[in-house]
Amino acid sequence: MLLLKCPCTSGESMPKAIFRFYEELNDFLPECQRKTDFEAAFQGKRSVKDMIEALGVPHTEIDLILINGKSVDFSYIIQDGDRVSVYPVFESLNIENATRLRKVPLRDTRFIAHVHLRDMVKYMRLLGLDVYYDPLLSNRQLIEISRRQKRIILTRSKKLLKFREVTHGIFVRPGTVESQIKRIIDYLDLRESINPFSRCLGCNNLLEKVPKEKIIHRIPPKTKDLYHEYTMCSTCDKIYWRGPHYIELKKIIDLILDGPGSREADNSLEKQE
Ligand SMILES: [Zn+2]
Repeated sequence: MLLLKCPCTSGESMPKAIFRFYEELNDFLPECQRKTDFEAAFQGKRSVKDMIEALGVPHTEIDLILINGKSVDFSYIIQDGDRVSVYPVFESLNIENATRLRKVPLRDTRFIAHVHLRDMVKYMRLLGLDVYYDPLLSNRQLIEISRRQKRIILTRSKKLLKFREVTHGIFVRPGTVESQIKRIIDYLDLRESINPFSRCLGCNNLLEKVPKEKIIHRIPPKTKDLYHEYTMCSTCDKIYWRGPHYIELKKIIDLILDGPGSREADNSLEKQE
């Protein structure tokens, strides 16, 4: 076995454990620790969770930890000479009799997005996914809402995912918005939950069908002759219809669901009064 003495974490006379991270967890590690066994030195009583996070991997990304071949939970105290294998969420492997760290998956998949993901929020709502977004939230408030409403945190901040209170979170990797959303959909197997044009892009509320007569005074004259189906958001009062912009939006949806990420169809997403 090749054992790399990684300069990032070695300590001569200190106790050490051997770590190996699998699949996309390697993205969080420096080059010298990726896809290989490496030693990490430690002092005193350290939980496996602390050590993994100190190495740079947020605990929310992890589904299974094996120590010397046996599954453990986050509170396991690392011992000198331990061999630690760390697997990402949804990595498919035979884990019969193993302790999955996320025992209870969130049933209705709902999200809360960090401040810097505004574009992603709009596109996800376009697909009908439930994404809470408020750019004014502090990290603490965001985590609190995530816990209370059982929402998965979407973020580009590893720091946020390392808060102890965070139970469900996804680190959004670099890429186009379309490819980032596609990855989340595939990751969580969300295709069945997609219902395009069902949610308000502005406030996340579900849209309701509204008879044209009821809102006719709010529709531009040409539009009301051409289009007969309208939906409305009861929270922010916006009206939606499938005008010319619909084709552009459909292209974006197809890009997200089928193709590799591209920005070609990145036109205005909203058409409302
Ligand atoms: Zn709304």
